[in-house]
Amino acid sequence: MQDRLHNFNAGPAALPLPVLEEIKDSFLNFKGSGMSITEVSHRSPWFDDVINDAIQRTKRLLNLNDQYHVLFLQGGASMQFCMAPLNFLSGGQSADYINTGTWSTKAIKEAQIQNKPIKVVASSEDKNFCYIPKGIPFNKDAVYVHLTSNNTIKGTQFESLPDTGSVPMVIDMSSDIMSRSLDMSKVGMIYAGAQKNIGPAGVCMVIIRQDLLDLSPDNIPTMLNYNTFAKKNSMFNTPPCFSIYTIQLVLKWLEETIGGLEKMDERNRKKAKTLYDFIDNSDFYKATADMGSRSLMNVTFRLPNEILEKSFVTKAIESGLGGLKGHRSVGGCRASIYNATGMDAITDLISFMTQFEKTSG
Ligand code: PMP
Repeated sequence: MQDRLHNFNAGPAALPLPVLEEIKDSFLNFKGSGMSITEVSHRSPWFDDVINDAIQRTKRLLNLNDQYHVLFLQGGASMQFCMAPLNFLSGGQSADYINTGTWSTKAIKEAQIQNKPIKVVASSEDKNFCYIPKGIPFNKDAVYVHLTSNNTIKGTQFESLPDTGSVPMVIDMSSDIMSRSLDMSKVGMIYAGAQKNIGPAGVCMVIIRQDLLDLSPDNIPTMLNYNTFAKKNSMFNTPPCFSIYTIQLVLKWLEETIGGLEKMDERNRKKAKTLYDFIDNSDFYKATADMGSRSLMNVTFRLPNEILEKSFVTKAIESGLGGLKGHRSVGGCRASIYNATGMDAITDLISFMTQFEKTSG
């Protein structure tokens, strides 16, 4: 087998190697069933165990009380941009939105398309989304506050969740779910496309509190109603079984090998600090996100010009470092260093960056 790359892709992204190995080892005969996990019925005891274990592990890792439901939906995180306002704003009420880049802009658009009277209460568009707004004037009568905790493209992240008073937050955590410990007391809903920190593409994890679930009206399409899935343990129709199975294994790895979210948080902070420190100490590489708003997951940076950036990405791949090209909408370079990326990958990246600067700078 060809050696595996250090994978810095933004998503789909690196998964823990022990998880991939376990999938490989049990792929043809899952738990003595004589079938692959991709062949067993979603109504079978084998799959029941998988989904229920994934839910229990999520609840333990995030310290969720029994008011929260853990759902696995399709349509990606993008589907949630429309589902949240559809379900929660049926009575003509408003919600507050914070715009920190591409993904929040899309979420705002999907609420506006439905003529929901939402308010954009803060935006970092004035500076090309390179920072996270502070001191936001939230509206007390909003049904929820929507925010994107980590902006995958611009490499910014809320250092801590804002104080929204008694208004619950609805958070797109696609690119930082399960990467740090979290105070859930003000969180009404979290959603996350799995393909960055918790699994393969094809499933979106939705964690939703009962009081928000109670807002969903009956007169919206069945497949867009959170209650449809909450009532049927995410199995109203055939769920994305393989993706959920992989999530279960990733969560097991997080709990049993890493030791939970505080430990993961520590590791992620150390990785990001090492890389940002290196970039900040160099005159050749330049970080693009403002200090204090920098993402621990997506480290975005520029080189002196685009020709060097292109050569950097190509030579990096030749050196076993993949996925360093910035998002096509912004250019530059980006190292996505999600949970499954180890310190060894950071060390090797820094050695390569040092060498590249010496030969090209
Ligand atoms: N939100 C964020 C923060 C993302 O990074 C992405 C995907 N990169 C999305 C939403 C969209 O996710 P999906 O492709 O699952 O719809």
